Amino acid sequence: MRVTMVGTGYVGLVSGACFADFGHQVICVDKDVGKIDRLHQGIMPIFEPGLEDLVESNVKAGRLSFTTDLSEAVKDADTVFIAVGTPSRRGDGHADLSYVEQAAREIAEHMRGYTVVVNKSTVPVGTGDLVQSIMAEVNPTGDFSVVSNPEFLREGAAIGDFKRPDRVVVGTEDERARQVMRELYRPLFLNETPILFTDRRTSELIKYAANAFLAVKIAYINEMADLCEQVGANVQEVARGIGLDNRIGKKFLNAGPGYGGSCFPKDTLALMRTAQEAHAPVTIVEATVASNTNRKKRMASKIIEACGGDVSGKTIGILGLTFKPNTDDMRDSPSLDIVPALLAAGARIQAYDPEGMEEAKKELTGIEMVEGPYSVAENADALVILTEWDQFRALDFERLSRQMKQPVMVDLRNIYNPDDLRQNGFTYVSIGRK
Ligand code: NAD
Repeated sequence: MRVTMVGTGYVGLVSGACFADFGHQVICVDKDVGKIDRLHQGIMPIFEPGLEDLVESNVKAGRLSFTTDLSEAVKDADTVFIAVGTPSRRGDGHADLSYVEQAAREIAEHMRGYTVVVNKSTVPVGTGDLVQSIMAEVNPTGDFSVVSNPEFLREGAAIGDFKRPDRVVVGTEDERARQVMRELYRPLFLNETPILFTDRRTSELIKYAANAFLAVKIAYINEMADLCEQVGANVQEVARGIGLDNRIGKKFLNAGPGYGGSCFPKDTLALMRTAQEAHAPVTIVEATVASNTNRKKRMASKIIEACGGDVSGKTIGILGLTFKPNTDDMRDSPSLDIVPALLAAGARIQAYDPEGMEEAKKELTGIEMVEGPYSVAENADALVILTEWDQFRALDFERLSRQMKQPVMVDLRNIYNPDDLRQNGFTYVSIGRK
């Protein structure tokens, strides 16, 4: 099938490369000329494990190409995916649909023949109707269907998630479009991946309901961690003790500094708005958002406390800046709350992230980026683990403490055993554990 991706970001590029790998003929379009130029040179605009090889092999095989020319990319396509950003709209938290609307207009203008337009961007309930009406207005004689097909991939594990998803959700009541979607996902269907066909509105809501549920789970275990600290219990064992119950499940029960990233913060806000407007408020999600926002703010105080109550003039070493490992994505990362608060308290910051430093430089000013975890430790009064990259999991404690002014570690991801650190002379503070 001929597939066009409008938007070549984390979702568009990964999905495009994976569809090409399934054997479809894929063109990825983006209006960012620099991004497409880099892709033409074989340079990935994002860091995602395995992506470079996947793109290279499919480009070589002639199944994947890149362009800034939407009209060329759309005119012969069987399916056109909208995979553009839907950030939070300033002021009210609603999803900003301007990129989706723009893409719908441009697709309508240039499509020829029957085209299935698939919304892969995360969009509020009713956006499919909006896209349909925009397209019908721009191209009243156009033959097209608008389908919802939300994406559930996780950055850092995106290719595996796309190729072996827990499920694929397709929202359309149109049988012709359903056939096209079935054909598109046939390689997964053969793999026995559950493919849930539903109506468009339900499909749109499934995505928000899933992300909000996961955000609730994280906020829940984080509050349990606070309680553990007060009553002398261990949150990791609480998580294990509840997670072994199949009704609860083990995943998403790691206490930490609060969720961030390109999806949960904006999607929970957008769901809140939709629910408020529909007079069916999701108060559990509202509480989750408030809990998470406060938590991110409180993390700086936790670090300052571990440094004796004052960080003025002290050097704090930060390990990890991205919102999670194996990505360079800095969107809504907890580091964007924690680092500025430490700077405001008078600390000097030296930081290292394996993949996120280029992005971080755009967002965080007044900090020194250094190369590697041991440079972060150099003359530091405290070391803070903000992101659980694998390369931070087996650091040489002796070497760290030789380089630090004083051996203090604040581990906001609970990647170390408290006894190991303490036996090596560290003052060690973690989340929800003694
Ligand atoms: P992104 O910002 O990485 O990529 C969006 C791209 O779209 C940008 O490169 C931008 O230049 C391009 N674009 C915008 N308007 C365009 C237009 N009219 N024509 C051509 N290109 C255009 O965003 P992303 O992280 O890939 O997210 C895309 C959507 O997928 C969002 O709705 C997001 O919520 C959803 N989503 C993201 C993830 C994730 O992990 N990042 C996971 C699931 C769903």
